[in-house]
Amino acid sequence: MSIKFFREDFDKWMIPVYNPAKFIPVRAKGSIVWDQNGKDYIDFTGGIAVNVLGHCHPLLKKTLQKQADNLWHIGNSYTNEPILGLAKKLVDLTFADKVFFCNSGAEANETALKLARKVARDKFGKYKNNILAFKNSFHGRTFFTVATGGKSCYSKYFEPLPKEIQHASFNDISSVTKLINENTCAVIIEPIQGEGGVNPADFCFLKQLRALCDKYHVLLIFDEVQTGIGRTGELYAYMYYKVIPDILTSAKGLGGGFPIGAILTTKHLALTMTVGTHGSTYGGNPLAGALASKVLELIKKDKIMDGVAERHMWIVSYLKKINQNLNIFKEIRGIGLLIGAVLNKKLAYQASKISIKASECGVMVLVAGSNVIRFTPALNISKREINIGMKRFSKACNLILGNN
Ligand SMILES: *Cc1c(COP(=O)(O)O)cnc(C)c1O
Repeated sequence: MSIKFFREDFDKWMIPVYNPAKFIPVRAKGSIVWDQNGKDYIDFTGGIAVNVLGHCHPLLKKTLQKQADNLWHIGNSYTNEPILGLAKKLVDLTFADKVFFCNSGAEANETALKLARKVARDKFGKYKNNILAFKNSFHGRTFFTVATGGKSCYSKYFEPLPKEIQHASFNDISSVTKLINENTCAVIIEPIQGEGGVNPADFCFLKQLRALCDKYHVLLIFDEVQTGIGRTGELYAYMYYKVIPDILTSAKGLGGGFPIGAILTTKHLALTMTVGTHGSTYGGNPLAGALASKVLELIKKDKIMDGVAERHMWIVSYLKKINQNLNIFKEIRGIGLLIGAVLNKKLAYQASKISIKASECGVMVLVAGSNVIRFTPALNISKREINIGMKRFSKACNLILGNN
C-alpha cells in the first residue's frame, strides 16, 4: 500500500523555494544518513547545525517517546513541567534571568527586536527606534528579520520593508561609530556570521561594540541561533568571547532536531513584556521542552563540548591536507564545529557544484554563499566518521578538478 516517492515529486507539489539534493534520505544514525537506495552518506551538515547529538540519539528518542505518552500540547493558558525545567536550566547556565520560548530562530530574533523596540519606547520615547545590524548577516526569513539581515537578495522582493534599520560593516568598529547614536535602540549581531560565509567576529570588535552600546543605552542582541549549544566549544559563543549581550537568541541546536527557539534576557528587560504584548501558540510546548532539556543535560553529562576543539582540529587538518594537494582553498576559518573553507580562484563560486559532487561521493556538506563550503556536523561525530567523510570529500574535489 505504500507509494514510492521520487525527487521529481518535489518539483510537482512543493513551492519551489528550495532545490533539494537528488537523493532522498530515509534513515539516519549518529552522523550517517541512508537514502532510498541504501547508499550511505557521512553527514557534515548536522541538519544545518541542528542535530548537535547526531541523528536519532537513543536517549533523545526515549525522551520523545516518554513525553509523547504524557502531554504533547496544552497552550499558553497553562504552563507545563518540561518547559519550566528547560527554563531553569537555561537561567542556571547563562547570564539570563528570564526566557521566552518560540519555534524557530527567525521567531526568536523577531521577539528580540520587538523587545528592544518596546524597552526603548517605554524608557526613552518613540524616537529611539533604530536598529543597527550588519552587512552579510542572516537573522531569518520573517518580514522583520529579512529586513534586519544584511543581504538584500532575501528582502528586496518584499518591499516596502520595516523601517529604521541600518547596516554597518562586520568587524569594522568605525562603521558602527558612524551609524550608532541616541536614536539607536538595538544592535543585532551574529558572533560568527554563519550563512554569510563563516566569519568570526574579532574579540576586540565585540568588546568595542559592547562599550558603544553601553554609551548610547543600546541593547546588544547576540543572534546565537547557529553559534549556540556548544558549537564553539562553549554553550554559547558569548562565553567564548567573554562579552555579555543584553538579549540572546537561540534555536537550531537547542532542540537537537526538534523545532524550538528561545530568547534569553535579564529580569529588568523582561519586565517590559507584560501580559498580552507577545505570544506564540506552539511556543513552550511540552514536547519541545522535554527534548531541549535533555539536549542540555546530555551535552553536559557526556562532556560533549570538551571534544569540540579536537574535532575542529581533525577536520581543519584534513582540509589543509586536501589543500596541499589540490590548492583550492584561499582560507580555512571558523571556530569549533562551525568551519568554512573559502574557495580560491581555481574553483571560485563553485561551492554548490562541489556540494553536489560531494553527495555523489557519499558525503553531505553545506555551502555558505557561493564561495564557501561549510561544515556544521554533530558535536559528537566520531573520528572514524570524519575520516571516511573527508576521504569522500577529497575525492569529490578531485573529480571537480577533473582528476581521477
Ligand atoms: C538559521 C539561522 C536563523 C534562522 O533560524 P530559523 O530557525 O530558520 O528561523 C537566524 N539566525 C541565524 C544566525 C541562523 O543561522
